Amino acid sequence: MVSLLLFQTCRRRSPEGDMSDRTIPCLYIVSTPIGNLSDMTFRAVETLKSVALVLAEDTRHSRHLLDRYGIETPMEAYHEHNEARATPRMIQRLRSGDSLALISDAGTPLISDPGSTLVQAAAAEGIPVVPIPGASAALAALVASGLDTSRFIFLGFLPRKGRERREALDSLIAAEETCVLYEAPARLAETLAELVKGGGEGRDAVVARELTKEFEEFRRGTVEELARYYSDTPVRGEVVIVVSGRLPETLDEAALRERAYSLRASGATARDVARTLVAETGAPRNLAYRLAQET
Ligand code: SAM
Repeated sequence: MVSLLLFQTCRRRSPEGDMSDRTIPCLYIVSTPIGNLSDMTFRAVETLKSVALVLAEDTRHSRHLLDRYGIETPMEAYHEHNEARATPRMIQRLRSGDSLALISDAGTPLISDPGSTLVQAAAAEGIPVVPIPGASAALAALVASGLDTSRFIFLGFLPRKGRERREALDSLIAAEETCVLYEAPARLAETLAELVKGGGEGRDAVVARELTKEFEEFRRGTVEELARYYSDTPVRGEVVIVVSGRLPETLDEAALRERAYSLRASGATARDVARTLVAETGAPRNLAYRLAQET
C-alpha cells in the first residue's frame, strides 16, 4: 500500500493526460521532527527508505534519526556552504534516474534552512519536487499561541543588525497580521526590547520554547511584559516568537471594549459578545474573545 502511494506520486502524466506506468525520479522534501522523534510521519520513513540518497544538513545529526527508524539509505551532506557546488551534481543524479530526499536538522527543509537552490534547479529541469509534510516550529508555535491564525506572516530570523534589521522590525510592528519569527535564545530579550522601543509594547505575544520537547513552554503576555520577563531570565533551548497584528486603523480597542460592555449589560454571554464584535467590526477573533472575557 505504502509503496503503491510512493509509486503513484512518481508517475508522470503524459501530454494526453493518461498516467504513464514509468516511474520517474523525484526530489522529495521531507520534514523531520523538531524535537520529539515520534513526530516522524509514516510516509517520511517510507520515502527515506525508498530513495537512492538522503541529503542532510548535518549527516551526523541525522544519523540518529535514521537509525531510530531503521533507514539504511546512504547520506550525503547538503548545507548552505556546499549547496551551490553540490546542486549540479544532484541534478545530474536525478536526471540519471535516482530519486533523492532532502532533510534538514529539524522540521521542514527550506524553512529558514537550506534547499531552495536545489528545489529551484530541479523545478527548472522539470524534475518533480514532492513535499512530504510534517513538523515545522513556526506552525506548531502559531497554532498553540492563541493568537489570530487566519492571516499570518512568517519572518524567519530577523536580519542581525543595521538598516535591514530596523526595517524588518518596523514592518513587523506595522503588520496587521500575526507575525511569527525565529530567534536565537541569546537574542530573545534584545529582540523583544527592540519591539517595545519600536512601539509594539502593547501587542499580545507568545514565546514558544522547546516545542515538542520535555520542557515545552508557552509564555504569553504583552510584548512589554515578555521583554521585562526575559530581560532578567536567561533562556535555554529553542524559541519562536509570535506577535499579534496591529489593529486596523478603523478599529479602536477602547470603542470595542465599550461596545462589549454594553452588549454584556444587555445580557449577552461572553461568547455572544465576541461573535457580535467580530461580525460588527471585523475585529480579530482573539481580541474579541479577550475583550468579551474582560467585561
Ligand atoms: N526548518 C525548521 C522548521 O521547520 O521549523 C527551522 C530551522 S531554523 C534553522 C531553527 C529555528 O527554528 C530555531 O532557532 C528556533 O527559532 C526554531 N525552532 C526549531 N525547533 C524548535 C523547537 N523545538 N522549539 C522552538 N523553536 C524551534
